[in-house]
This record gives sequence, C-alpha cells and structure tokens, in this order.
Amino acid sequence: MMPDYHMHTSLCGHASGEMTGYVEEALKKGLPEIGFSDHVPMYWLAAHLRDAGLAMDETSFPGYVSRVLQLRETNPSIGIGLGVEVDYIPGWEKEAAKFISEYPFDYIIGSVHYIDGWGFDNPGLTDEYSRRDLGEIYRQYFDLICGSAKSGLFDVIAHPDLVKKFGYRLSPAPLELYRQAARAFAQTGVCVEVNTSGLRVPAGEIYPSLEFLRLCRSEGVPVSTGSDAHCPDLVGANFNEAAALLREAGYREVTLFRERKRIKARI
Ligand SMILES: [Zn+2]
Ligand SMILES: [Zn+2]
Repeated sequence: MMPDYHMHTSLCGHASGEMTGYVEEALKKGLPEIGFSDHVPMYWLAAHLRDAGLAMDETSFPGYVSRVLQLRETNPSIGIGLGVEVDYIPGWEKEAAKFISEYPFDYIIGSVHYIDGWGFDNPGLTDEYSRRDLGEIYRQYFDLICGSAKSGLFDVIAHPDLVKKFGYRLSPAPLELYRQAARAFAQTGVCVEVNTSGLRVPAGEIYPSLEFLRLCRSEGVPVSTGSDAHCPDLVGANFNEAAALLREAGYREVTLFRERKRIKARI
C-alpha cells in the first residue's frame, strides 16, 4: 500500500480530467494516500517566454492550492497532500525558495527537465540527442540531479534517471554517476522518487533503475512513490511493479508527508 504523490492536473496544460476524477480513481484502487504535485509556474522565465502547455501561470496557482485543500475537506476517507513539482534551475534558487514559502505544501518534488535550457525530456526536442555526446549528456544531467539535492529546496528528487526516457542509454550503466547521486541524496536527506511513468515511455522501465535504487538503499536514502499521472486512469498505475522493485532493492518502507515532515509507512 503506497501513496501516489506525483499527480498533475489539467491546469498545467498537458493533463486531462477533473481533480475529483483523480481522487475517485485513488479510492477505487484503495490507495492509502495521494498528493497533487502540479508543475510550478515557470518562475525562471520572463512571462512572454512561458509555455501555457507546460505549466500554469502564477495567477492560477492560488486556485490550484485551494482546490486541493477543498478536496481534502470533502474526502476524509483518503489523505490528500498538497505538493508541487519544481524545476531545479541553477541560479534561480532564491526565486524557487520564495515561491515554495508562499503556500502550505506537504512536500516539494524537485525535478530536472532541462540541461542548459534544452528540454531533454520533451518529445519534440529529441533531435538534440544525436548532436551531443551521450556520455556528456549523462554527466551534465547527474550533476544537475546532485545540485537539485544539494540546493536544500526539495523533499523528493523526481524520476532520478529521467535522462533514459527515450531509450538513449549508456552501456555499461553509469554506476559511478548513480553512486554520486545516491550519496548526494543521503547527505542532503532528500527522498528518491520511485516513479512508474518510465514504464509508459520508450525507456520501458521505472525511474530509477534497479541498480540505481539499490545504491540509494545502501546509502540509506528514503523513498517516495508516484505515478506521474497526467489523467485520472493513471493514478497508482503499475504500483505492484513499483512495490516489487522496491522489495528487490531491499526497501520495506515508503514515506508519507505532512507539512514537510515525514512518517514512515510499511510497504
Ligand atoms: Zn507534466
Ligand atoms: Zn517531471
């Protein structure tokens, strides 16, 4: 029984369904707890450069927060957390911190979706993989992942090997990069996210991989769980596989969040 803390809403411009639909699906699947974690407004870009298809703007955000809090009131049979997925952009930590301080979040998910401004997980921008050296892409990506943990802004680091999304992989697997990331997570006290959306993209594998998750386990890194649902049907998607992966890596507990404090829960 694991919580789904990574769910988006139609406010972000690329998800569908009603927020009540997500709650209904979670109840149907018997999840103990869920949390909405929609994308942060693109705080690092000037207003005219922001893309309404990637994230809501600041003026919509208070409505998102009050809707989540209202759903919590009207659905006492399931825990509903207030979260947000915040892009980690080096140099913009102060702005991110200010935004995070303005709402009563239960948890903050930190994400790396950009390498030097390149949206490497955007299906429209994959040509760039053939223009760059894959080893260098992975090194830059994992530097950013370590930076996101060290920023101290986040409770959870999302989909920690997202760079494999389109199936561009290093062989052998970059264990040293995984180890550095696992150590950075342990040293800074963040949770690593087990995110099932990797099963629905060319990578065909949960984020993170078993080898990466094992290294997190051996460093003592706690775990958060999420589907990255962008529609109600996907709430709790493939959680049986996620539980099996966690057990295989040696985990017996996941994390629940309350006002940015943690409670351990048995899987
Ligand atoms: Zn999204
Ligand atoms: Zn993400």
